[in-house]
Amino acid sequence: MRKIGLIGGMSFESSVVYYRMVNEAVRAHLGGLHSAEVLLHSVDFQSIVDLQMAGRWTDAAQRLADVARALEAAGADCVLICTNTMHLVAEEVQAAIGIPLINIIDETAQAMSAAGIRRPLLLATRYTMEHGFYAERMAGHGIDVMVPSVEDRTLVHDVIFKELCAGHVLDASRAALHAVIAKAKAQGADAVILGCTEICLILDPDALALPGFDSTAIHAGAAVAFALDASAELKTEAGCRQAA
Ligand code: GLU
Repeated sequence: MRKIGLIGGMSFESSVVYYRMVNEAVRAHLGGLHSAEVLLHSVDFQSIVDLQMAGRWTDAAQRLADVARALEAAGADCVLICTNTMHLVAEEVQAAIGIPLINIIDETAQAMSAAGIRRPLLLATRYTMEHGFYAERMAGHGIDVMVPSVEDRTLVHDVIFKELCAGHVLDASRAALHAVIAKAKAQGADAVILGCTEICLILDPDALALPGFDSTAIHAGAAVAFALDASAELKTEAGCRQAA
């Protein structure tokens, strides 16, 4: 089995989900008490948030590249950046290592393309919704991402940073996110991307007004498929849940 290298801690609330998902998928696939070979480097999230808020993306890239190199040196066979936002620096991180970086945007795009999705609503941090790196990479897969209104982007961003990353899951915020999805549906969205690795803590991708694509589950599934050298089928087993 290949070793999965996780760059986590962004936030640790979602790293816990990754850890559980990769282990459950390996056990489901191999049976018995099999579990994943995992190397997790969990960073101090506040130090990353400070760099994000200051727009110091080059420094953030350097920081994550150092972590990726350390994971490679420790024996990881692949690396995952366990956050959509920090894929803003994914190319710099990939350039620093000789093992594959499994890209959450590419994996999510491939899952949507396979389901015939073309115009999904993106729920994510402000950086992911507004910076351009995410929509551009999705466009390369033929996916035309829709983002919420300015006010709703603030709402989603605040739910992520002030609540989910801080360990709070509130019913009122869940209802507000459902309302954002309803608006996007009326505007022609054909799916919802849970494009932040904590959103699965508050939204069930199978219980939305549109088909839901959970980036955390898709990413974890891709890691397990790589680790077991298995087919794309395994990505679904690992928890890539898509509403019919
Ligand atoms: N985990 C979140 C994401 O997937 C947000 C945390 C971060 O800013 O890295 O984007």
